[in-house]
Amino acid sequence: MNETIAVVGAGIAGLLLARELKARGENVVVLEKSRGLGGRLATKRVEAAVFDSGAQYFTAKSERFAARVVEWAAHGVVAPWPGASAHRWIARPSMNALGKYLAEGLDVRRESKVIKVQRADGGWELMIENQSAMRAGRLVLTAPMPQSLALLQTGSVGLPDKLAGELAALTYHPCLALLLTLEGPSAVPAEGVALADGPVRWIADNTKKGISPGLAAAVTVHLNPAFSAEHYAKTESELAALVLPGIESNLGSPVSNVTLQRWRFSEPAATRVEPCVWLPELGLGLAGDALGGPRVEAAALSGLALAERMATKAGAARAKSSAAHVQEVGSVA
Ligand SMILES: Cc1cc2nc3c(=O)[nH]c(=O)nc-3n(C[C@H](O)[C@H](O)[C@H](O)COP(=O)(O)OP(=O)(O)OC[C@H]3O[C@@H](n4cnc5c(N)ncnc54)[C@H](O)[C@@H]3O)c2cc1C
Repeated sequence: MNETIAVVGAGIAGLLLARELKARGENVVVLEKSRGLGGRLATKRVEAAVFDSGAQYFTAKSERFAARVVEWAAHGVVAPWPGASAHRWIARPSMNALGKYLAEGLDVRRESKVIKVQRADGGWELMIENQSAMRAGRLVLTAPMPQSLALLQTGSVGLPDKLAGELAALTYHPCLALLLTLEGPSAVPAEGVALADGPVRWIADNTKKGISPGLAAAVTVHLNPAFSAEHYAKTESELAALVLPGIESNLGSPVSNVTLQRWRFSEPAATRVEPCVWLPELGLGLAGDALGGPRVEAAALSGLALAERMATKAGAARAKSSAAHVQEVGSVA
């Protein structure tokens, strides 16, 4: 049996990477802290209403990702956004369906929050909240970069200085999402609407999108990064009072319920051009949207790029080795 590769995070980067590695005969375990799959490809239910609360749609500009999307479309997992330009893809019936689909056939352990990682016997030891520790030969982190770096710090894992500095600069914007149920039909265009001024940057009607049938309107409202940062701790009723009067005409019907979802790590404020990080000496990889770009497609390409790096001879030749070698490579940042 091959050594285990532990992948932290069941977002699109982690799931695509895990599928690639498994297809190459590797023994992969994906650890996901949430109950849901897909990470920021997220769907939230509030009573009868269904909301895509994170990513609203994705594009497929690169040939590599477009080939996957065509395959998923053939399986009915994704489709063009109804009424929108053909360049916008959504998952069916809602965004988290793509995560569920990609997780099929993989060893994905949900509700498994990794709380500490440390080097052990030339490999890795992972502490998982309320579970026993796990050993792995190689480790891949796909959480938003600040969370991945914090995890490395728990076990005093040092990265090369220059790299550590570059990765620490990859901070994220927060995003407050208001999930609204309306009493009547909305005035929101079927393809959603991006607003340039004011605290709101995006409004979409999930009923028109086809994911919340049977309801008058279930509307996702995303607040812009600066407003979200300034008002991050506010309650839903405080935010409703601040924001809803300004978008009454966009909504078109009275609001009957407001649910708040806070995304602390919504999109990277800065990204690194190289699509992944692979340190064979440590048996450590990093992937996700901070590497490549703040989009679903870039996160997917990051996961795929890392799988390829790990499969090359140099990538696979993880140092069997000694703590001494690790210290040599990774001066603590
Ligand atoms: C509000 C919002 C709107 C967006 N809109 C769009 C859009 O319209 N189009 C677009 O292309 N992109 C959009 N994005 C960005 C897009 O969702 C992301 O770029 C992409 O989904 C990131 O995928 P990922 O796999 O890198 O990370 P994630 O999806 O964040 O996956 C990381 C996973 O790691 C898990 N995790 C974290 N820490 C741990 C731990 N310690 N132990 C175990 N698991 C852990 C998390 O729970 C998560 O499931 C949006 C994002 C948000 C939040």
